Amino acid sequence: MLFLVIMIDLHCHSYFSDGELSPVALMNKAVDSRLRILALTDHDTLAGLAPLQDAARHSGITIINGIELSVCWKKYYIHLLGLNINPEEAELIALVNAQNQGRIQRALNISACLKGAGIHDAYQKACDIAGHERVGRPHFAQVLINEGLVPDMKSAFKRFLGQGKSAYVPTVWVGIENAITAIVKASGQAVIAHPSKYALTRTKLHELIRTFKAAGGEGLEVVSGDITVADTMELAGLCTRFDLLASTGSDYHGDSLSRIGLGHQRPLPVNCTPIWDQWNI
Ligand code: MN
Ligand code: MN
Ligand code: MN
Repeated sequence: MLFLVIMIDLHCHSYFSDGELSPVALMNKAVDSRLRILALTDHDTLAGLAPLQDAARHSGITIINGIELSVCWKKYYIHLLGLNINPEEAELIALVNAQNQGRIQRALNISACLKGAGIHDAYQKACDIAGHERVGRPHFAQVLINEGLVPDMKSAFKRFLGQGKSAYVPTVWVGIENAITAIVKASGQAVIAHPSKYALTRTKLHELIRTFKAAGGEGLEVVSGDITVADTMELAGLCTRFDLLASTGSDYHGDSLSRIGLGHQRPLPVNCTPIWDQWNI
């Protein structure tokens, strides 16, 4: 099997969402990893894009403006990447603001639930860890660890934050079609992030892809983080079958949170058409 070798990473996070690194620190990593192209795809926020563009000036690395949107499709939560978006497009900004209101409200509700476990001001503590108010469950997991209620992230989800547990609060994210429309309106390309992570049956995954494509979606993340070669080959096959472009990213969140480093994901199989094929880079 042949692989396409190009130093590109189209999925990572900064401390503007749940990553550990500042845009400047992320840039230093990108230089160390000899990346040529890097997309920042923080969860439901555009806040890190301008700082990263600034940090990348004179680095020789091309920065792609991106985002990772949490969306609803039927009863599932799906992550959608928007690549090459214009971060100043009004409809996208409005969507992001609405998502964040939902995120903050959920965080307040999680905080209220955690009071029952004896943790006070969990929301404030999570915000202190994150450095911003748009906190997600990983930040609450860190609070639970700090308070000594659980030994690690995994048990925080297993005992408190995961679906069906005492501090689980469902969120109503934007619908997948609306999210794709906003991405396309912002001149971006929509990509289904880590498609093998949703535990969908093959039939359901195909149904998701059909809905996604009909709404204007263009790509699948064929390589994501430490995905297995078998899963990558299956996703590459789906790209061919549904005439979709292939994306690749490490989903890097920081050295202590991620198993593989920035830009260290496996290359794309050569039978894929890369999403950057038509980019002016
Ligand atoms: Mn994340
Ligand atoms: Mn994700
Ligand atoms: Mn991600």
